[in-house]
Amino acid sequence: MSSLDSPLSPSRPWGRFDPYDSAEDQDKEYVGFATLPNQVHRKSVKKGFAFTLMVAGESGLGKSTLVNSLFLTDLYKDRKMLNAEERISQTVEITKHTVAIEEKGVKLKLTIVDTPGFGDAINNTESWRAVVDYIDQQFEQYFRDESGLNRKNIQDNRVHCCLYFISPFGHGLRPMDVEFMKMLHEKVNIVPVLAKADSLTPLEIRKMKMKIREEIERFDINIYQFPECDSDEDEEFKLQHQELKDSVPFTVIGSNVQVESQGSRFRGRQYPWGVVEVENPVHSDFLKLRNMLVRTHMQDLKDVTREMHYENYRAQCIQNMTRMVVRERKRRNIILKYYYYYICHIKIWQK
Ligand code: GDP
Repeated sequence: MSSLDSPLSPSRPWGRFDPYDSAEDQDKEYVGFATLPNQVHRKSVKKGFAFTLMVAGESGLGKSTLVNSLFLTDLYKDRKMLNAEERISQTVEITKHTVAIEEKGVKLKLTIVDTPGFGDAINNTESWRAVVDYIDQQFEQYFRDESGLNRKNIQDNRVHCCLYFISPFGHGLRPMDVEFMKMLHEKVNIVPVLAKADSLTPLEIRKMKMKIREEIERFDINIYQFPECDSDEDEEFKLQHQELKDSVPFTVIGSNVQVESQGSRFRGRQYPWGVVEVENPVHSDFLKLRNMLVRTHMQDLKDVTREMHYENYRAQCIQNMTRMVVRERKRRNIILKYYYYYICHIKIWQK
C-alpha cells in the first residue's frame, strides 16, 4: 500500500519524466527523492545557461568563420576589415559578441571573445598581454561582485574556454604560440585547434598533430585535460573518450556558405577539384570539437574555470591582501614605537 505523501499519490508533477512511472514501481512505497535530478534540471532550464568562449590566434586563420560554423549564427555582422597598414599599427584589441540561442526550450547565452590584432604587428612579443589582462579583469569583477552585497544576481563573464588557432602553414608551434599558451594556461582552459585543415593532406595532418602534441609536452604547456572516464563506463563511451583525447589538436574547417554536391546541401568549401564538407568526420575534427564544446564538456569547462583557474586567482588575491594588511600593521607599529619613544624622551627632558 502506498502512503498519502508518497510520489505514488495521484498528482504527478513530472508527467512522462516521472522517475516512479514504471509498472514495477506501482506497488512500492517511496519517499520521492529520485525526483531531485528533475528539480535541478527544471531550475537550471528556467535560469538558462551562459558560456564564454574566447578565440585567439593570428588573424586570417579562420576564427570568425569557425565560430559562425560552430553555432550556425552570424556573430560578425558588423566586423570592420583592416588593410595591411592599419593591421601593422593596430594593437591587440578585445571584442565581445553575445547571442542568445534557444534549442528545445533550453536557453544559452553565448559570448564570443575575439582578439583581433593578435600576431599582426611586426614585433609580436607581449601580444598575449591584452588577453591576460582581459581574463584577469573578468576574475577581478567576479571577485568584487562575490564579496559585495548583491551576490544573487552576479553576471559571470569569466572566460570558460580559449580555442587557440595554430597555423597549418608552419612546422608545428611557433615561438609566439608557445609564449601565448604558457602565459595563459594557468588562467583559462586552452583547447588547441589546427586551422584550415583543408590545406593539409591526411599524412601531413597526422605528422603535424604528432609534432604539436610533442611540443606541448616539451614546453610544459597545460592545455585543457578531459576528465578521466570512470572504470564502470561502457566500452563504447571509453572508446569515444580516447578518440577525443587522441584528436587534440582538433583539425577544423570553417565555411559561411552552403554548397551543393551530389544532390545534397551542406556547409562546405568548393574548390575546382572538389568539395570539402565542414561536418564530414573524414575531412576534419569539426564535429568532435563541436560535440565536445557543446554536448559533452561545456559544464566541465565551466567547473574547471571555477574550481581551478578562478580559485587560483582568488587565492592569489587574498594572499596579496593579507600581505598588504600585515605590511600596513608593521608600518603602524613602527610609527607608534617612535611616537612613544619620542614622548618618553620629552618627559625625561622635562624632568
Ligand atoms: P579570422 O581573421 O581569423 O577571423 O579569419 P576569417 O574567419 O575572417 O577567415 C579569413 C579567410 O580564410 C576568409 O577568406 C575565409 O573564407 C577563409 N577561411 C576560413 N576558414 C577556412 C578554412 O577552414 N579553410 C580555408 N581554406 N579557408 C578558410
